[in-house]
Amino acid sequence: MSQHVRDPGLASDSASLFERAERLMPGGVNSPVRAFRAVGGSPRFIDRGAGARVWDVDGREYIDYIGAWGPLLLGHAHPAIVSAVAAQVQKGTAYGAPTRLEVEMAETIVRSVPSIEMVRMVNSGTEATMAAVRVARGATGRSAVVKFAGCYHGHADGFLVKAGSGAATFGTPDSPGVTEGTARDTLTAHYNDVEDVRGVFAAQAGAIAAVIVEPVAGNMGLVPPAPGFLETLRELCTAEGTVLIFDEVITGFRLGSGGAQQHYGVLPDLTTLGKVIGGGLPVGAYGGRRDLMARVSPSGPIYQAGTLSGNPLAMAAGLAALRVIEEDLSLYARLDRLGAQLEEGLTSVIRRRDLPCRLVRLGSLWTLFFQDAEVRDWRDASTCDTTRFARYFRALLDRGILVAPSQFETNFISAAHSSADIGSTVQAIAEALEAAYA
Ligand code: PMP
Repeated sequence: MSQHVRDPGLASDSASLFERAERLMPGGVNSPVRAFRAVGGSPRFIDRGAGARVWDVDGREYIDYIGAWGPLLLGHAHPAIVSAVAAQVQKGTAYGAPTRLEVEMAETIVRSVPSIEMVRMVNSGTEATMAAVRVARGATGRSAVVKFAGCYHGHADGFLVKAGSGAATFGTPDSPGVTEGTARDTLTAHYNDVEDVRGVFAAQAGAIAAVIVEPVAGNMGLVPPAPGFLETLRELCTAEGTVLIFDEVITGFRLGSGGAQQHYGVLPDLTTLGKVIGGGLPVGAYGGRRDLMARVSPSGPIYQAGTLSGNPLAMAAGLAALRVIEEDLSLYARLDRLGAQLEEGLTSVIRRRDLPCRLVRLGSLWTLFFQDAEVRDWRDASTCDTTRFARYFRALLDRGILVAPSQFETNFISAAHSSADIGSTVQAIAEALEAAYA
């Protein structure tokens, strides 16, 4: 420990910054899971990133699997994104008037995502899901929305009912501040449990405006859909005149350029996007069937707007990312190979030591669950040994590997990770598991 007296006004190492931050911001952060509360210790403040790596303000280097929580499919500071943003910034950062970039972004999304015929850009995933539900309610004239326990759709009131991600991490899946009336309009069902969903539909016949689902759940840890689950949702929604919303904020342009809907061959009525399509800048989008999207203002009566929506810097960054992807779609096969390498390595470590954990992986998404039974829904995920997870996390951090600081999140491999990175990650995880189970 250094003996000098820290001037908290000036010191800028992670510990000092966090001391300053905690006095100024709730929990010292601008988004809860960043605070490391679920894993202990205090967060590392990041100074810079390049490719698959980040460096903290204390000069430590990490192989990064947070990837900004999903946007960084191409890694940190990808040259194409950096130069697109640099070029745009010279031309101004916002106009509040339409630009060519927005048209090109809409064309790219519509060309790539099978069910999207029209799209509206917003600034975050939260805005996208909020608006999509409003469209569903406006179009159907119904109020109720079905969501799944452990799924996270941003922090709008109606979604903070049995919510995943930080809400699950902090044990507040039902947030104070959400009115009873709002909570009443949100019906919940168990993920991957078609009988449960059928039961909800039977009890609320003709009243359900929308079913919103993460087609691959990423906010209770990674939980892929069981065979037939998405198909059943599609059938039920079609039969009942309910709008099916796929929240592809994580999976859009991540599982492939057509998202989970292309991967599983099930098409929703509306889709929400975010993360990858912004290239690391704040972006969300919602889109889908033309007859539904045509109801959005000003072509229709359902109101939704945004001062910085379609922001030129964000569009430049996102378009640069999507162009790199479109020009090299084999990128997804490469990501899958890296994912498979991680999966094989970790599965053999777990088997060799006979550890009670389970690696779940789909493409470049992965979660190491600290329990060994199959994880099909939040009931399963919530039985994980989060104390051991915290030990593993800290041991991994000490070895220069940064994963999501909560059991109930997914990790992201980027196109900037190399096979050697994955190799050293497997080695570090093997050691971290030794420490966690010592
Ligand atoms: N939907 C999903 C599936 C998400 O994972 C997230 C954020 N992790 C959101 C919506 C909300 O997006 P944002 O944080 O950009 O508001």
